[in-house]
Amino acid sequence: PWNFSAGPSALPEVVLQQAAAEMLDWHGSGMSVMEMSHRGKHFVQICDEAESDLRELLGLPADYAIMFMQGGGSGENAIVPMNLMGRRGSPAADFVVTGHWSKRSYKEAGRYGSAHVAASSEQAVQLDGREQGPLTWVPPVDTWQVRKESAYLHLCSNETIGGVEFMDWPDTAALGAPDVPLVIDASSHFLSRPMDVTRCGMMYAGAQKNAGPAGVTMVIARRDLIGHALPICPSAFDYANVAAEHSRYNTPPTFAIYVAGLVFKWVKANGGVAGMEAANKAKADLLYGFLDSSSFYRNPIHAPVRSRMNVPFVLRDESLNDAFLQGADAAGLTQLKGHKSVGGMRASIYNAVPLAGVSALVEYLKEFERRYG
Ligand code: PLP
Repeated sequence: PWNFSAGPSALPEVVLQQAAAEMLDWHGSGMSVMEMSHRGKHFVQICDEAESDLRELLGLPADYAIMFMQGGGSGENAIVPMNLMGRRGSPAADFVVTGHWSKRSYKEAGRYGSAHVAASSEQAVQLDGREQGPLTWVPPVDTWQVRKESAYLHLCSNETIGGVEFMDWPDTAALGAPDVPLVIDASSHFLSRPMDVTRCGMMYAGAQKNAGPAGVTMVIARRDLIGHALPICPSAFDYANVAAEHSRYNTPPTFAIYVAGLVFKWVKANGGVAGMEAANKAKADLLYGFLDSSSFYRNPIHAPVRSRMNVPFVLRDESLNDAFLQGADAAGLTQLKGHKSVGGMRASIYNAVPLAGVSALVEYLKEFERRYG
């Protein structure tokens, strides 16, 4: 079956096969990765190699630290403020709200200091002669109101539930706030295309969409932003400790890091992030192209910011939803149900979903429309 889950989601089959083959005996060590000390030479090799492969994939310079942490994107919604918010005195951070996840980040940060919405798409607007509903668009950059004294400006570059993706983001100097670094939650499109991480101060991403199993979060931070944690920050979540110990300040999620490392090697072997982008663009073009050609289905997102990873769509006749999902399951197309907060359907077409999977989905969409349209 083709798996369209938003996360945890499909992983490359060859990665799963390799993990299975090495399950009982990693490289002649006589141990499973799960059974190794996180300070022993085998795991240190696995972890350091994962870090250097990721650094290579992102073209990341040495003045950025890569940390493999626990807590997921939701954990980082608290860990980031605890580490960064007090960096310039009184704790303060700004947020761009474009969906469920950026709103969650904004709300969580408010527990640690002054959180301010610099821009929001929570209201409906007219754009390009069309009505755009709440959280289906990105506020134009020239409307963002960033406080100059903020410790950082946070945005979620791909809203997994809404299906809104930033194809680019502004330099904060252009917003009149040159000392305010960007912090980006890239959880659901990490490694899906080239991204210049050096244009932001920090990026974080839960692995369980494009980069591995649940349990590990990739955290990338410019080194000068590290070392300013609020006194309440737990030591195990203080970036200064985690970076100094190369993600081994305390026991990290060893098996998840190992599988993420296999995924990094798979991305490298398949054209790197540029190769991922070419495949992802072809998949997204195929799916959106069909949805736009049909009056039976509809994707509600403003076209220039439609996510290449998470494609929500609704059936014009919502009473057919159950029949649609049952038929999809029977056709081997799984986990297409939309998030409960927006309803409808959602096809998550991450790196590990090949074009053949999206073609199969489009064929099913056509067939269902022929039957019920
Ligand atoms: N941020 C984004 C963009 C997400 O998609 C998710 C989860 O789906 C999260 C944050 C929260 O991640 P977690 O469940 O790992 O805390």
